[in-house]
Amino acid sequence: MSYIGDTIKGMSEVAKAMAITLKYLFVKPVTVQYPEEPIAVYPRFRARHELRRYENGMERCIGCMLCEAACPTNAIHVEAAENDPAHPISPGERYAKVYEVNLQRCIFCGDCELACPVEAIVLGHNFELAVYDRKGFLLSKEALLNPPTPNVIVRAE
Ligand code: SF4
Ligand code: SF4
Repeated sequence: MSYIGDTIKGMSEVAKAMAITLKYLFVKPVTVQYPEEPIAVYPRFRARHELRRYENGMERCIGCMLCEAACPTNAIHVEAAENDPAHPISPGERYAKVYEVNLQRCIFCGDCELACPVEAIVLGHNFELAVYDRKGFLLSKEALLNPPTPNVIVRAE
C-alpha cells in the first residue's frame, strides 16, 4: 500500500478511537470510588451474620440450636441457658448464653437463617470481613447483636 493510503488508513483508525473515547466521555462510569462511595447490593446478598432483637429490646434467639445443627460446616456454636422469669433475655424458656460464628468455616450458604424459627440469625449486608488476626474471624454474641452499619446501598431486585 502507498504512503498516502497508509496515512489515510491510520487517520481513520485514530478518528474511530477518538469517537469511542468521546462516546464514553458522557456516559455514567460503572466503577465506584469504594470505600468513599457505597457498593450497591441486592436485598438477598448474604454477608456477615447478625443477631436480631424484638422492638422491645428482647433478644429473638431462644437458644434452640437449630442453626448449629443445620450448619454444614460447624461454623456456629450455641450454648443455651434458662431464662430468669423476672428478667428474661428472650421470650422463650431459654436464651443463647453463648453464640459464636466462625467466619473461617462459614460458606455463607444461609442454612442457619433458614433453620431459625424466630428469625434471630440473619445474614446481613456487611461484606467488609477483613481482620488483622485470625481471632477476628470468631464473631461473639455481642458482636453479632451489635453489627456495624454496612457500607452499601440496597438496590431493587
Ligand atoms: S451461612 Fe451456612 S456455613 Fe455459614 S454459619 Fe450459616 S449455615 Fe453455617
Ligand atoms: S439463632 Fe435461631 S436457630 Fe439459632 S439458636 Fe437462636 S433461635 Fe435457635
